[in-house]
Amino acid sequence: MSEKFIEFKNVTYTYEPEEQGEAKPSPALCNIDLTVNRGEFVAVLGHNGSGKSTLAKLTNAILVPESGTVTVDGIDTSDEDRLTDIRRKVGMVFQNPDNQIVATMVEDDVAFGPENLGVAPDEIRRRVDDALKAVGMYDYRLREPHKLSGGQKQRVAIARALATDPKVLLCDEATSALDPTTTVSILSLLKDLNEKLGVTVVVITHQMSVIEEICSRVAILDGGVVAEQGSVQDIFANPSTDAARRLVYPGGVRVEQVPASSRAVRISFNGGTVYQPLIASLAIDCGVKVNILGADTRNINGHAFGTMLLSLPEDPNEAAKALSYIRSQPNVAAEEVEYHG
Ligand code: ADP
Ligand code: MG
Repeated sequence: MSEKFIEFKNVTYTYEPEEQGEAKPSPALCNIDLTVNRGEFVAVLGHNGSGKSTLAKLTNAILVPESGTVTVDGIDTSDEDRLTDIRRKVGMVFQNPDNQIVATMVEDDVAFGPENLGVAPDEIRRRVDDALKAVGMYDYRLREPHKLSGGQKQRVAIARALATDPKVLLCDEATSALDPTTTVSILSLLKDLNEKLGVTVVVITHQMSVIEEICSRVAILDGGVVAEQGSVQDIFANPSTDAARRLVYPGGVRVEQVPASSRAVRISFNGGTVYQPLIASLAIDCGVKVNILGADTRNINGHAFGTMLLSLPEDPNEAAKALSYIRSQPNVAAEEVEYHG
């Protein structure tokens, strides 16, 4: 049975206005319900300003909810007596590695957390070595952190978080400043830590590419609310909100591209059949010719997914024939798209 580890229940948070006397701004997060189970690898996805960092700060009790509750491993984050316990359980990794460096030598930097927590010196030594080995930076322990590459700095930042022996690693845009290759290597490191150490991982990002191959579950934040949450497969195969569609298929099909007066069908390929020559078989098997208005496919966790937007023939009988043919295909969902010209 999965065990709830982080739980947001109907959480709303509004920042104070910047100037005195100014009206209170709209909430940065509104009625958020979100659960992360122990041992999961979850992504929180959203555009800039959607409330992701606010959600991170509510998780490790930098902020407390205006209404609703946040619990981490059963501890209410608004319980001031348990603040240290919460900070100990939640290891944070941020976007800019330079802002996180606190010492002039890698191993001192990693030792900073456990020192702050009052861990015994020989235990600190063990934790620092273990953490540096876990992120592949043990050979760099005597180097100056400032002179490392961006990816190496993020590895050290992850080691710094690990050295406090956290139960969850909360990574707020931790790969957003890295090039694609380094991003992949950091993500596989996080996946590795998740699998080998059992540490729960929450990856907060605006980069879709970060999550598609690696996370099991995703929550999509949009304008301070959870627009959608579910398995990566489900959300990618069938994003049901505009926010999700924009994030999942940023370069993909938009309904606005459909020429005025045409009927269109959006097809979602649900694993397995993306490369099936659907268009050709439509022509051959039922004698209907359609145009591809746009297409975008992806590979997620080894399954092929994608959407395709097809114009339907003007003749209603032909259009109906094409639709029922498409709907008869396995692993395919078809939705006629309303177009307001
Ligand atoms: P994200 O991390 O998704 O970019 P944030 O959680 O940082 O989003 O911001 C959500 C909203 O809250 C935005 O409208 C932002 O302007 C506002 N906000 C964030 N931090 C502060 C702050 N310290 N004071 C006032 N408003 C803030
Ligand atoms: Mg942010």
